[in-house]
Amino acid sequence: MGAPIRHFTAVGPGDRVFTVNIERDFRYDPYRDFVVCAHCDWSPSLLTTRRIDGMAWEHLASAHGADRGLSQQDNASFRKAGWVVLPLCAVLIVVLFLYAGS
Ligand SMILES: [Zn+2]
Repeated sequence: MGAPIRHFTAVGPGDRVFTVNIERDFRYDPYRDFVVCAHCDWSPSLLTTRRIDGMAWEHLASAHGADRGLSQQDNASFRKAGWVVLPLCAVLIVVLFLYAGS
């Protein structure tokens, strides 16, 4: 399946932490994102105009009673991959400009 790129967490009864992940499947072009709950089968369609974070919080609160300590964070390893790709793109653009100008 996809790589988790973002986590939504909330604290529920008994200080248990519940997590909803956004997973990105890189096999598709353009990439496809999925929202997956780590605690049940909830995985809604993203063909909606609603914000993903709103849907995640609502699910955590309504299905798991977790409505405290809401937080979201990007997956660290995914962010690191972004730092590698960005400079590569920049170099590519510079090379293209040089090529076009010569
Ligand atoms: Zn759930």
